[in-house]
Amino acid sequence: MTADAPQPVQMIARGRIITMDPTRRIIEDGAIAIDKGLIVAVGAHADIAGRYRAADMLGGPDALLTPGFIDAHTHCTQCFVRGLTSGELPMIPRIYNPAQRVLTADEAASTVRLLSAQMLRAGVTTLCEGTLNPDHETAILETLEEVGIRSILARGRADQDFHHASLYSQINDRSWVKARDGEAESDLLRTEDLLQRFPSRGDGLIHAAVNASALLGFSPRYFTEGAALARRFDSTLQVHIGRDREEVEFCLDVWKRRPVERLFDLGVVDEHLVAVHAVLASEREIEILAKGKAALAHSPTECVANMNAIPNLPRFRAAGIRVALGCDNQANDMFATMRAAWLIHGARWGVERFDPEFLPAGELLEMSTIESASSLRIDHITGSLEPGKAADFLVMDGTAPHFMASQDVTSELVRYGSRAEILQTVVAGRVLYDRGNFATIDMQGLRDEATAGAAKVRQEVVDRRYRPLPAF
Ligand SMILES: [Zn+2]
Repeated sequence: MTADAPQPVQMIARGRIITMDPTRRIIEDGAIAIDKGLIVAVGAHADIAGRYRAADMLGGPDALLTPGFIDAHTHCTQCFVRGLTSGELPMIPRIYNPAQRVLTADEAASTVRLLSAQMLRAGVTTLCEGTLNPDHETAILETLEEVGIRSILARGRADQDFHHASLYSQINDRSWVKARDGEAESDLLRTEDLLQRFPSRGDGLIHAAVNASALLGFSPRYFTEGAALARRFDSTLQVHIGRDREEVEFCLDVWKRRPVERLFDLGVVDEHLVAVHAVLASEREIEILAKGKAALAHSPTECVANMNAIPNLPRFRAAGIRVALGCDNQANDMFATMRAAWLIHGARWGVERFDPEFLPAGELLEMSTIESASSLRIDHITGSLEPGKAADFLVMDGTAPHFMASQDVTSELVRYGSRAEILQTVVAGRVLYDRGNFATIDMQGLRDEATAGAAKVRQEVVDRRYRPLPAF
């Protein structure tokens, strides 16, 4: 090969590129050279075409290329039942837990395939499983590997009994917690094993993390030793916090502290902490998270669907807190989720203060890509289109009417773009979704599995709902 001969690579993708690199560069008629699943070069198409050649070509002069989206918070085994949860508070013990408990391992695998199909169709290349249901751990892990979507698995099993006395019954009843001896140690050993097999900072598709779902169910020991594990493996500790009134009541009754204050007392608020939801975080709690450099996983649709509370996102941003957007199974579509964030925060903070800059489109895109990757500590491998990172990206139809009369492509993508314009979803250089076809999911089989699964979980929760179900 002469010095000038183009270097053979696996794939070249051409289009207008939104890189989300440190300078947020947008390249008109750009190209990405990809080899062995990694990005080798990003630049002007004329330059890349001169330096590289590939049998596999994606996109074209009219395509739009963006980093794949990262869904920073989900629960894989909830998607058979998600349509029955809205307004059914408290939906976790009432609907989600029984519907998940009843699933066999095969059915859990089907939920993972269904979730992955919904996500790949909508341009999500990385999902973050927030609690990794221990009963279905192996099925979930194996199915994610089979599908080939990038995943963060935060695992951990509750080790503490508790009793919640509601505010109105605290006159003669008090809340309490009691750790179950030895459970934290044995469960954290399993998490350590997962962290060793799937390092957070590794190059594989699966990245392990630590889950201590909530202050009620996880002991102080679990939190402090779980946080130590997250630090040791440069991973994250993921905690649902400040989510509902009951939790705040509980924390004030048992520890005389609000939820994030309690986390601070436990010594776990640092850059490895991902505070999930924090919709009820006070000004002081936001300050604690900011000082500790913790991140927020924010699910805007869930705020409306189930939590009935909206976090003060502009305040989180002003304090310098990294924010990662998550669907939490309410959309499984980051376009819908970015738009929900735009609209609910616009209605809550922008309109109220007559402030059009409450949440610019560019920041919403950061929260779905590079900032999400940084919050989840996988920004070494994904979140932007830069040499050395994995080829996790979307090829979109840049000729769609939504993208005509283009003035500011980032704003147009976030505010008007949708999954309808996605042609291909690529994870680590592998085209997993291509114009309606899924490379690793048997959609006919999945349809049958999903129909059966939906009927099963419906049967399980039918008597637990407030409102009768419509007949079908
Ligand atoms: Zn969650």
